[in-house]
Amino acid sequence: MADYDRADTRVRRFQNLIDGQSRPAANGGWIDSIDPATGQVWAQIPDGRADDIDAAVAAAKRAFRGPWRQMAAAQRAALLRKVAELVGPRLEELAVIETRDNGKIITDTRAGDIPAIAQMFHYWAGAADKIHGETIQVSPASVNYVQREPIGVVGIIVPWNSPGSVFAAKVGAALAAGNTVVVKPAETASCSILVLAELFEQAGFPPGVVNVVAGLGAEAGDAIAGHPDVGKISFTGSTLTARAITRRSAEAIKPLSFELGGKSANIVFADADLDAAAIGVTTMGIFNGAAGQSCIAGSRILVQRPIYDEMIARMVKIITGIRLGDPMDAASQMGPIALDRQFEKVKSYLDLGRQEGGEALCGGRAGEAVFGAGSPHAGGYFVQPTLFAGLDNQARTVREEIFGPVACVLPFDDAEEAVAIANDSNYGLACGLWTNDLKRAHRMAAAIEAGAVWVNTYRRLHWAVPFGGYKDSGYGRDSGMESLRGYQQTKSVWVDLA
Ligand code: NAD
Repeated sequence: MADYDRADTRVRRFQNLIDGQSRPAANGGWIDSIDPATGQVWAQIPDGRADDIDAAVAAAKRAFRGPWRQMAAAQRAALLRKVAELVGPRLEELAVIETRDNGKIITDTRAGDIPAIAQMFHYWAGAADKIHGETIQVSPASVNYVQREPIGVVGIIVPWNSPGSVFAAKVGAALAAGNTVVVKPAETASCSILVLAELFEQAGFPPGVVNVVAGLGAEAGDAIAGHPDVGKISFTGSTLTARAITRRSAEAIKPLSFELGGKSANIVFADADLDAAAIGVTTMGIFNGAAGQSCIAGSRILVQRPIYDEMIARMVKIITGIRLGDPMDAASQMGPIALDRQFEKVKSYLDLGRQEGGEALCGGRAGEAVFGAGSPHAGGYFVQPTLFAGLDNQARTVREEIFGPVACVLPFDDAEEAVAIANDSNYGLACGLWTNDLKRAHRMAAAIEAGAVWVNTYRRLHWAVPFGGYKDSGYGRDSGMESLRGYQQTKSVWVDLA
């Protein structure tokens, strides 16, 4: 396995990128980055604060008003394409960094997350020189045309799950629209983004077009949210933080787009292909290589009553066969929780589920109890994939986002009841439907209050397809041409011909 040796305990340091220069934080501080498979420090990132954000925003503003704005769209496209090409030779290095930083299994980061980053930059390179306005024929006595203009400096705040691909989706769209960016990665998983930042320098981007400042949410993130020269904020993370950003940004009046949490229903009808559905609601739906730390995890599994017992037997068989282990081992199918705070949160729901009257049909153990005290992973943040039954849709375990490998299974009688349960949630990010009845699938898809509906599949995402939520799952969209609009403002120009 290239670029990786677990016996190598040297702590790596990664730098911020501000105004085209790799820099430590202005105050010289560092934040430890923990390998969640061992609980040990493996890297350090700069502890960026408000003065680092000020410097990054100033550089982004200069670049926006200067070289970036003057550049032809095709030239900006060529630079984005170059970044996409530079990802390939760094693929293995980036996959290892992502896996060590947040514990997602190496087979996923190697085959999924990191190659997708290159694809996203190719996609946005293709879009950069295809930005069109329109003309409106209001009257013969005037010409009216509409231009789509960039906003200016965009603040991008990224979570710890899938940091590299969230970065690429947002930065690619923002740059294609002609903006400059200041990015704050999550303090617990910044390293892949700090490496990706270097690629923009190598590609020949003018200094200040892309700036990355690592630091704490309450410091660096807060400074972006409140900065008067940041023209828009694109945020992926929790609903709680979205509320804090909304409050903080209120004085400066700026558009926000939010990709937030979820508690998605994954619904199995009796007429479904049960082999496919059993995989679809377990390893595809939630018990994945990210240990369920996926905003679109199908954490509420609804099963029609006639097949309830059979589906439970099938699900438990699959879940108990999942290989939990070192995320750097290509044989592992699930790794640890990404950070200690989240690990404690997930464990608290294992307790709460039982207190609320649920029965853990499988799993239920966490920490040292998973591998035993002598294991090198005894200090890691591992949680067994756990399926709760016996809880109704009002239980907190069923309603609140756990963000870990914990799902609840609930029975239902008919489509009407399934829709009512699925929609009885503050969230509205995604939904899965497993049925062979085409008419029912379309009727249900229309009735479900969520930004993504999958029929006989789950967790399918693509950089060309808009992605985002309803209700507390956010607003605005990432990916696809629709997301480009979120990084533009519209100007209408009137010319009097009379
Ligand atoms: P989080 O909200 O704790 O942190 C996200 C980012 O916000 C981090 O960079 C953090 O440092 C920053 N932040 C924290 N406090 C801040 C503040 N006061 N002001 C500005 N920035 C601040 O979320 P997380 O725990 O990193 O990620 C998990 C959450 O993200 C889950 O709820 C998950 O569902 C959601 N998520 C959603 C999507 C989606 O596309 N809908 C994708 C991935 C994750």
